[in-house]
Amino acid sequence: HRRQKVLVVANRLPTKPKRDADGNWTFERCSGGLVSCLAGIRAKFDMVWLGWPGADFNDVEKDIVANEAMKQGCYPVFLRQNLIDEYYNGFANNVLWPLFHYIMPPFDKGVNECSTGQWEAYRKANEIFTEAILSVYEDDDYVWIHDYHLMLVPKFLREAKPDCNIGWFLHTPFPSAEIYRTLPWRQEIIESLLHANLLGFHVYDYLRHFLSSCVQLTSLEISAHSVDATSIGGCIVTCATVPIGISPDEFLTGLQKPEVKQQIEQLHEQYAGRKVILGIDRLDYMKGIPHKLMSFGRFLENHPDWADKCVLVQLAVPSRRDVPEYQRLQRQVHELVGDSAEVRRQISGKHSSIATGVPVIYMDSSMSPDDLSALYNVADVALITSLRDGMNLVSYEYIACQHGKTVPGVLILSEFAGAAQSLGAGSIRVNPWHLQDTAHAIYEALMMGSEEREALHDYAFKYVSEHTAQKWAETFLQCLQEACSDLMEVT
Ligand code: UDP
Repeated sequence: HRRQKVLVVANRLPTKPKRDADGNWTFERCSGGLVSCLAGIRAKFDMVWLGWPGADFNDVEKDIVANEAMKQGCYPVFLRQNLIDEYYNGFANNVLWPLFHYIMPPFDKGVNECSTGQWEAYRKANEIFTEAILSVYEDDDYVWIHDYHLMLVPKFLREAKPDCNIGWFLHTPFPSAEIYRTLPWRQEIIESLLHANLLGFHVYDYLRHFLSSCVQLTSLEISAHSVDATSIGGCIVTCATVPIGISPDEFLTGLQKPEVKQQIEQLHEQYAGRKVILGIDRLDYMKGIPHKLMSFGRFLENHPDWADKCVLVQLAVPSRRDVPEYQRLQRQVHELVGDSAEVRRQISGKHSSIATGVPVIYMDSSMSPDDLSALYNVADVALITSLRDGMNLVSYEYIACQHGKTVPGVLILSEFAGAAQSLGAGSIRVNPWHLQDTAHAIYEALMMGSEEREALHDYAFKYVSEHTAQKWAETFLQCLQEACSDLMEVT
């Protein structure tokens, strides 16, 4: 009796291809992120991961890559570099990503004019992904499609395999229908999604926005949690809120490692006499890094006595460096943290002295999980100022790494992150656009007494430890199984 498979379909495979000095490729498996979320699936299902292998390979290399990937349970979906540029960097990351985070195209430009070629590439890439799925799919398998990169796959797949079991999960926000309906390709995308059996979202608001878009853009019958898309060749689609989580145990075990304990000690020495305010973000415009730096500047202006008693440690992990918007952001942030005399005065210069050094430590690199855990652990405050964020797992990781401390740190969390809906009562919530409000929250966090800190932490930790990544994957698959069997009863 064959075990059912779950085909996990995401833009990227969880492997890093590397070419050695002799020109041979090796594949290092990535850890963390979606990989650890999905690890638990294997207890019940076989799992195959389909995605782009991360580089452009020639025909000879492709066979080698496919063999290597297969050994790791992966099936590579090959895409040429120009397709990646147009579909991934272009349509997915430069049209959909900003729009799903409420950033409209420049007011003097229609998105239509500049992006039609990118839309075609998006379609093409989604077709190529569908073909790959079809070559792995066997009857009764489950296909779990991830994210905004692959929103046309449900329709292509349903057309090729009408009784296919299809689930899709969105890792970003789904924007208000008022924003979504500005997208020239709104109809094709929404109709395609309605060919899945299950559509999953992080929080109820995103689901609600999706349903409002369906109401506005289709004439289908819509109830609180499902859409009857049978008239367009889709199915009865179940929509569900399935918030993602982390694996807190991985962090808690990490903190017990001697090398991590040593690193924690070193950091305590390095920042002795100062409270550490921590920012960890991908360098992305929706993370509100400039807003954070300016709020911190405002805090120091309001409370100059804190200038030599605290430090803002900001890690900005480089991201999507091929997209011009991200290059601009990097320049802006560099200016804010020090290259520009004017802004430097606002943030660091004015409040620094030779004896104490500047109160902003900015790093634009990535960090090993061990170093990251150590930093999370020593921070007295975590400052998250996302302007929009699907969930924001950094806030969860900070809470996990604060556990067991005599006096836990305080989380300041933007109300525009999905996490604000789960950790809201375990944090100080801020509107990151309101610099003064955020500046005040920094002060409040630093001054907070231990009893209140503990109460906030206990609330947040309980949530983080109960709503784990593994549970998220299990719940999604259970909903998918139910959505597919409901369909069988209906037909
Ligand atoms: N992270 C990382 N390397 C780093 C710093 C952070 O891999 O140097 C991880 C971090 O542990 C977290 C993820 O990046 O799991 C960020 O997830 P989040 O949901 O906060 O934001 P996203 O980057 O997905 O928008």
